[in-house]
Amino acid sequence: MSAEKYIKNYINGALVPAVSGDYLENLTPSTGEVYSYFPDSGPADVDQAVKAAQEAFPGWSNAEPRTRFRLMMRIADIIEQNLEVYAKAEALDSGKPFTMSSTVDIPRAQSNFRFFATAALQFGSESHHMAGSAINYTLRQPLGVVGCISPWNLPLYLFTWKIAPALAAGNTVVAKPSELTPMTAFLLSQACIEAGLPAGVLNIVHGLGPKAGQAIVEHPGTKAISFTGGTKTGQHIARTAAPMFKKLSLELGGKNPNIIFTDCDFDEMMVQTLRSSFSNNGQICLCGSRIYAQRPIYERFRDELVKRTQFLKVGPPLAKDTDLGALVSKAHMEKVQSYLSLAEVEGGKILCGGTVANPGSTYENGYYLRPAVIEGLPIDCRTNQEEIFGPVVSIAPFDTEAEALELANGTPYGLSATLWTQDVSRAHRMAEHLQAGIVWVNCWMLRDLRTPFGGMKQSGIGREGGQEALRFFTEPKNVCVKYR
Ligand code: NAD
Repeated sequence: MSAEKYIKNYINGALVPAVSGDYLENLTPSTGEVYSYFPDSGPADVDQAVKAAQEAFPGWSNAEPRTRFRLMMRIADIIEQNLEVYAKAEALDSGKPFTMSSTVDIPRAQSNFRFFATAALQFGSESHHMAGSAINYTLRQPLGVVGCISPWNLPLYLFTWKIAPALAAGNTVVAKPSELTPMTAFLLSQACIEAGLPAGVLNIVHGLGPKAGQAIVEHPGTKAISFTGGTKTGQHIARTAAPMFKKLSLELGGKNPNIIFTDCDFDEMMVQTLRSSFSNNGQICLCGSRIYAQRPIYERFRDELVKRTQFLKVGPPLAKDTDLGALVSKAHMEKVQSYLSLAEVEGGKILCGGTVANPGSTYENGYYLRPAVIEGLPIDCRTNQEEIFGPVVSIAPFDTEAEALELANGTPYGLSATLWTQDVSRAHRMAEHLQAGIVWVNCWMLRDLRTPFGGMKQSGIGREGGQEALRFFTEPKNVCVKYR
C-alpha cells in the first residue's frame, strides 16, 4: 500500500488511467509543489464504471449480509494497519495537521466501514399485522448503482461515510473524491483489491467536478446521488438530477452559530470554542463561525478568545506541534482573504490574525493564514451571512435568549448550532427553536454514528448516519397479503 505520484481510477476491480490518458496535477498546500497527478476522467470513464457496477450488482445485492460484513471489516482492518500511510497522505494532500488526520480522519474512515458493516446485519424488512385478515411486510431493497461525491475538507472520512452505507445496503457504487484531495481514495482502491472486494462493487473515478462529477449525476445508470459539498454545487446537482427523479441526499454548507450564555462552564466552553472555531483551519462544515456571547461575559470571552487564538501554532502539516496547517489551495486562501478585506469594508474590526503566515523557508509558497477573530459586524452583512470556510470567526454580544435565537437563525443556512449554558430548561427551549439539523449543548462535534446527520434550509436535503443512511440507500416496498 503506497501513495504514488500517478493516481489511477479503480474500475471493475483494476487500477486504470483515464480513457483519454490525460492527467491533471494536484499540489500539496504545504509547499505549493506537485504532490500527485490524477486521471482527468470524463463521461467515458464514468460509463465504464457504471457498467462494471451494474454487472456486479446482482452478486453483491444477493450476497449474504455476513459476506458484505466480512469484506467491509477487512477493508477497515487494512486501513487500520496502514494508518500512518493514510494519515500522512491526507495531511500532505489537504494541508491538515498529521495530528488530526491520524486521530480523526483515518480512524473515522475505519469506523464508517465497521459501523455500517455491523448496522447492515440488523437492518432489514419490517412487518405489520392487520388484525385478523392480513399481514404487511416492507422489503428494503437496494437501489442498484449509486453515485457518491465528496469534498476535500475531510477527504476519506466523508468519502467512506457515503460508500460504507451504500455498500452495506447492497448497492454497488461509483464514487468520486474531490480533485483537491484524491490520494486517500486511491489508497482505498488498493485496500479494496487487497481485501478481495469483488470487481465492480466499488468503482472510484477521479477528476474534476464539472466533468467527472457531472457525468456521475447525469448518467442514467446511477439511481441515487449522495453528495457533500458546497450549496451552489448542490443546487446544480439537484437541477441536473430532478428530470430523472433520482434520489438525492445533499449535505451542504453552513454558517453555524455558537451561543454562549453567562451561566456556562467558562473553561470548558473556551477549550471547545477554540476547537469549533479553528479545527482543520475552520474548514469543517460544522465549525462555529458566528459566536454570540451574552453581554455580562462578552468582554472576558473576547479577550480570552483573542489571547488563545494568538497562541495557536500555524505550521507544516507533518510537524508535531502544528495546530493549524495549510489551507487547501491558493484559490481557497484568496477567497478567505477576500472575506477578511470585505469584513473591514462592512464595519468589522479584525482583533487578531488574518495575515499570511510563513512557517519557514521550505514552506514559503504554502497557503498559511493566521486565524482571525472579527468584531463589530452587523448580522445581515455578507461576512456574517456567507460561508467563508476558513480560520475566521465573527463575534458579537447579545442580551436575551430571544435575541440569541434571532441572531442564530438569521442566515440562509441551518446545519449545526452550539449552546453553552447550565440551565437545562433553556437548553431544551433553545434546541427546539434553533433552525439547525444538529444542536450541541455544552460540547461540539461529539458524534454518534447512529444519529441523523444533516442540515435544514440551504444546508441540504436529507439525513445521513445510522438507519437514515441505510434507508436512503434502499427502496421500501410494501407487500400486503390477505389470508383466510
Ligand atoms: P464543491 O461543491 O466544490 O465540491 C464537492 C464535490 O463535488 C467535489 O468532489 C467536486 O469535484 C464535485 N463537483 C463539483 N462540481 C460538480 C458538478 N457539477 N457535478 C457533480 N459533482 C461536482 O465543495 P468543496 O469546495 O469540495 O467542499 C466544501 C463545501 O462542502 C463547503 O461548502 C462545506 O460546508 C461543504 N461540506 C458540507 C458538509 C456537510 O455534511 N453538510 C461536510 C463537509 C463539507
